[in-house]
Amino acid sequence: MIDYEARFAEAVARVRAEGRYRVFAELERIAGRFPTARLYRNGSVREITVWCSNDYLGMGQHPAVLEGAIEAVRRYGSGAGGTRNISGTTHLHVELERALAELHGKQAALLFTSGYVANEATLSTLGKLLPGCLILSDEKNHASMIAGIRASGCEKAIFRHNDLDHLETLLRAQPRERPKIIAFEGVYSMDGDFGPVAQICDLAERYGAMTYLDEVHAVGLYGPKGAGVAERDGVMDRITVIQGTLAKAFGCMGGYIAGSAALVDAVRSYASGFIFTTSLAPAVTGAALAALRVLTSEEGAALRARHQERAATLKARLREVGVPVMPSPSHIVPVMVGDPVACKAASDRLLDEFGIYIQPINYPTVPRGTERLRITPTPLHGDELVQELVAALIRVLPATSLARAA
Ligand SMILES: *Cc1c(COP(=O)(O)O)cnc(C)c1O
Repeated sequence: MIDYEARFAEAVARVRAEGRYRVFAELERIAGRFPTARLYRNGSVREITVWCSNDYLGMGQHPAVLEGAIEAVRRYGSGAGGTRNISGTTHLHVELERALAELHGKQAALLFTSGYVANEATLSTLGKLLPGCLILSDEKNHASMIAGIRASGCEKAIFRHNDLDHLETLLRAQPRERPKIIAFEGVYSMDGDFGPVAQICDLAERYGAMTYLDEVHAVGLYGPKGAGVAERDGVMDRITVIQGTLAKAFGCMGGYIAGSAALVDAVRSYASGFIFTTSLAPAVTGAALAALRVLTSEEGAALRARHQERAATLKARLREVGVPVMPSPSHIVPVMVGDPVACKAASDRLLDEFGIYIQPINYPTVPRGTERLRITPTPLHGDELVQELVAALIRVLPATSLARAA
């Protein structure tokens, strides 16, 4: 007889042996007091400061967003009641899609259960609708894009990260009439660098390719209206598909794409991950609409400015004391440790001794040997918290890691 249980235990033992067994921090976020949260650990509860949330602007506790959720639940109830096709398309879905299309300057938008599902469902569908298509994919693309590309069944060509020459070499080798999709990101979330959006558009136009841009870590955060890096760089109209999430800077949940009416209608009609699942609940759509209103307003612009200032300040303070901040031009502040065991140890000490929560980032999220602490300051992390963090990091980072920067 096969010992199934033993197989699972062995699989986990391999992860443990590598020092990358994942332990979830059990938190209770406190609406109104972000980034403070309660931590449930070893049978006790205490307050800590969260420094690794993707709720980048604290919209997850914004009064207007909470009101949007509460109001929607009061009016419409808890669930949407069906798939989009069968009884689950509500007025809120239609309104939200219209607002997202407008945000990105596109004819249409389509909601999904998550950003992951948006990438998986859209890329797999586009690939299937374009027989013979080649998908050119940045080597640092998110797992959800990789899953979509795999599921499309298309041939894929991986280009070196942000390497325009490599991308052009791959494009030049293809017949002009072959369908091509270039898939890449506006902000790469683990290194914090930007994609060269305009230059990739140049190449796409020269070689007749479509562009698919994941703006998950940029929507709400970059551009005058918070539409992302493509908006900031003035090239939104040159991107074929913009994909985003409502879960990070929007502080809610759900994903979407924006594009031409024909493309969005095709994905709506063919994508299994869109069709066969219940639509987003009223609490989510109501909150997301409220978040969108805030983020496109002057208040949103002020939050974005403060967010950038906080990230710049933290990076400067860390560099002053020799902490090896990776050269990230964005709001993400990654500190290289380069070893899974040391990274986890530093994270544990931050939490246990200093009440600071920064989850260690290990393989497969990042390549082996590049394990890091990924810090995400928000407009709500004041100077005092920054000072506490800097002081704590000097204490917990391995000496080798600090020395490397010196
Ligand atoms: C988080 C993330 C996603 C998935 O978005 P969710 O809404 O969390 O499912 C997609 N792409 C990138 C680059 C991400 O970091």
